Amino acid sequence: MADTAGPTGDARSETRWHHVPDLPIRMAPFLRWPMRPGEVVRHVAASWRPFKPRVLILVTAFVVWRWFTPSFDEARTWSLDWVAAIWLRNVVLISLAAGGAHLWLYRWNRQGDDLRYDARPLGRDKRLFLFRDQVKDNILLTIVPAPIAGAAYESLWWWAAANGHAPNLGFSDHLWWSLLLVLLVPLWSIGYFSVGHWLLHRGPMYRHVHSWHHRNVNVGPWSGLSMHPAEHVVLYGDALLFLLLPAHPVHMLYIVVQHHIGAPLSHTGHHAIRFTRSEGRLGRILTLPIGDFFHQVHHRFIECNYGGEESPMDGWLDSFHDGTPEGEQRTAERRRRINANRRSAA
Ligand SMILES: [Zn+2]
Ligand SMILES: [Zn+2]
Repeated sequence: MADTAGPTGDARSETRWHHVPDLPIRMAPFLRWPMRPGEVVRHVAASWRPFKPRVLILVTAFVVWRWFTPSFDEARTWSLDWVAAIWLRNVVLISLAAGGAHLWLYRWNRQGDDLRYDARPLGRDKRLFLFRDQVKDNILLTIVPAPIAGAAYESLWWWAAANGHAPNLGFSDHLWWSLLLVLLVPLWSIGYFSVGHWLLHRGPMYRHVHSWHHRNVNVGPWSGLSMHPAEHVVLYGDALLFLLLPAHPVHMLYIVVQHHIGAPLSHTGHHAIRFTRSEGRLGRILTLPIGDFFHQVHHRFIECNYGGEESPMDGWLDSFHDGTPEGEQRTAERRRRINANRRSAA
C-alpha cells in the first residue's frame, strides 16, 4: 500500500481549516469515564431534537414505509415490478439529498464558504477523477451502484418478512420495544460501520476498494456514497440485522434511508446548511446541523477516526483525532508507525 502521507504535502496547510466546530471534538458521554447519566440523557435528547438529521431520517423512513414500499401481498413473490419500484425510489431519494445539497451549497453557492470546513474547491481537471472532475466522478460512482445495493438488501427483507422468514412487528403492539429500537438502531449502524470501515482500511481492501472513496480528500455531498461498488455491498449490509431481529419495517427503513440521505448530508463539507441568513431565533431554527467534522478529519488524515463519536472503535484502537494540533501530532506518529510496519512487512 502507498504511504498514507498527508494529501497536501504541506504541513502548514494540514493544520488549517476554514471553519472548525468547538474543539476538541469529544466522544459521546456514554463512552467517557466516569459516565455522567445527566450528560448521557442530554446528549440523547439533543440528538433527537427536531430539525436534526436523525429526525429527518426517521420521518423520511416513515414516509417511505407509508407510501413507497410494496405490500406484503406483493412482496410474497419475487417480481421486477416491486423491486424496480424500490430501486427507482432510492434513485430519487439519493438524488434529492446529494443533488439538493450540492445545488444549494456549491452550484447556487447560497451560503458561500460560511461554516465550510475546508474552503478549497472540489477537484476539477484532475486525472485522479473520472472525467477529470470530482463531482461528475462522484455522481457516477453513487447513482449507479448505491440504489441497487440498497434495493437488494431491502427487497430481501420484504420478501423474507412477507413469507414469514423475517420477524415483523406492529409498532403499537410492541410500543416499548419499538421505541427502544428507535434509539438503538442508529447505534447499531455506527457500530457496524466502524468495524466494516476499519476492515476496509486493511491491506488489499484499502488498495483495491476503499481508496476509491478516499480520492475525496475534500468532500462534497456526492462524495458520501461515492465508492467502489464492493463497498456499497458492505455499507448497506447493516440492514441484514432485521432478518433476525423482531422489528417494524420503519426500523429497517431507517437503516437504508440513513445511507441514502445521511451519507450525502454528512459529507457536505459544511458544519450546517443555513436556509436563511438571518441571525437569532429564526436563523437557529432554519439551520440544519448536518456537519460531521469527525469524518472530515478522517478524509484528510486517513489513519484515524474510523468510527464516529458514538462508537467505541477509535478508543479501542487509540486512533481518535480530536481535531486539535495535538490530535494531528498523535495521528502523524501513528501513521509513521503504520507505514514503518508496512515497509518491514514488504
Ligand atoms: Zn476510510
Ligand atoms: Zn467518507
